[in-house]
Amino acid sequence: MLTHVHRVRERDKKLVKRKKDEALKNHGVLQCEACGFNFSKTYGPDVDGVIDVHHTKPLHTLQPGDKTKLADLALLCANCHRVVHSRRKWLSVAEVKDRYQAAKNKA
Ligand SMILES: [Zn+2]
Ligand SMILES: [Zn+2]
Repeated sequence: MLTHVHRVRERDKKLVKRKKDEALKNHGVLQCEACGFNFSKTYGPDVDGVIDVHHTKPLHTLQPGDKTKLADLALLCANCHRVVHSRRKWLSVAEVKDRYQAAKNKA
């Protein structure tokens, strides 16, 4: 249920577009905030938009009428997004980033 509502919120098209526009303005590319995965670099520029937009605040922490701010959203690749939601208490984007770096350094 929560996941369902969560997803619906993440599909707020206008906000998602603003988030992506902001990232493009700041970084020039859309890439995963945890692992740096860049869809257009790997699959071609026409699939840039498939990056996931994750809402970092669990629903139960929101008050009715709370407005989602751009800062509450994170751009994630599908893998990292799944990892965030793999625990009952969501991992933060920073935690997923740390895990990714730690595992990478081991390899
Ligand atoms: Zn990622
Ligand atoms: Zn999410």
